Amino acid sequence: MDDLSLTHFFELSLEELSSILVGMGEKPYRAKQIWSWAYKKFASSFDEMTDLPLKLRQDLGKAVTFTRLEPLLVQEGAESGTKKYLWGFSGTPLVESVVMKYSYGLSACLSTQAGCPAGCAFCASRILGFQRNLSKGEIIEEFLGMCRDQGERIGRIVFMGTGEPFLNYDAVMGAIDILSSPEGYGLSRRKVTVSTVGIPGAIRRFAKDSRGARLALSLHAASDEVRDKIVPLNKRHPIREVMGALREYAKDTGQRVTVEYMLLKGINDSAKDALKLSGLLSDIDCLVNLIPWNPVPGLSFERPDRSRVERFQEVLLRNRVKVTVRRSLGGEIEAACGQLRRQETRDIN
Ligand code: SAH
Repeated sequence: MDDLSLTHFFELSLEELSSILVGMGEKPYRAKQIWSWAYKKFASSFDEMTDLPLKLRQDLGKAVTFTRLEPLLVQEGAESGTKKYLWGFSGTPLVESVVMKYSYGLSACLSTQAGCPAGCAFCASRILGFQRNLSKGEIIEEFLGMCRDQGERIGRIVFMGTGEPFLNYDAVMGAIDILSSPEGYGLSRRKVTVSTVGIPGAIRRFAKDSRGARLALSLHAASDEVRDKIVPLNKRHPIREVMGALREYAKDTGQRVTVEYMLLKGINDSAKDALKLSGLLSDIDCLVNLIPWNPVPGLSFERPDRSRVERFQEVLLRNRVKVTVRRSLGGEIEAACGQLRRQETRDIN
């Protein structure tokens, strides 16, 4: 059992670790050495850090908890090579995350909350409701747990797992800061994408804090009438407000944003919907990512067939909107977009 009164290693910034070390009479440079073990060599304990004096390893163990998060379950998709991991954090929230294999390398899809409070009608994460936010350290552990398991460097992170990253803003930004720090995992911030349901205040805040990290907006509809039905938060933050914040973000950061548009048959996938979307996006530098809906047991939406997806794409292209269709990996193990959830009702014993 963890002693919860101890600080957990993965919650600590480099400066905080340095000051703990200085308090122990150590030189502050040790902090970088320890970070290198944790974030570059994926050590599982202070004991493994063999170039630290034994006494220091013991003292650290008394002041700071350093645990290794082990997956409760790992599933691998035979076709895509996608791997899905199930994690159990203290207080037993179960959270899933995924590593996808692309031609350009490995990409991690991280969860930020156990369950999701946003409640989008089409998403598996809503089914069991919201349990709690993950801490900064837990988000980092999810990632490092997958790094240990993969034989190859994970070069990208997308915050597109369970949860709404902007409803757990500080933890997500804290995790990005550590994983992108040169003394930490050293991932370029440009290789990190945060996907949000669209919370205007947080989008503006992200414009200031992102420092190169990318933004994706889950728009999914071009009118409030449709979006209100599938994204409950739209009633609080209607499209006009969300797009206003997105335009400001694009202007302030000079970054192109990704607009995710999930296609639900008969709901938002007509040529007319595509035309409306083109109009809405005409004055913003963005790339639309079309995501044909991935089936979720218990939810009664339908995935449009290929010809409908292509027609939607053509209308956007004709109106000079940049667009790609997402190749959702991992459907064979329910690891594709929108299929992650807390899994206690499924197949772990
Ligand atoms: N809360 C964040 C992250 C969600 S997951 C957000 O809303 O952006 C990443 C993307 O998958 C979102 O665009 C989400 O709306 C979409 N998604 C959810 N369920 C889906 C499903 N069943 N099929 C396809 N995409 C889905």
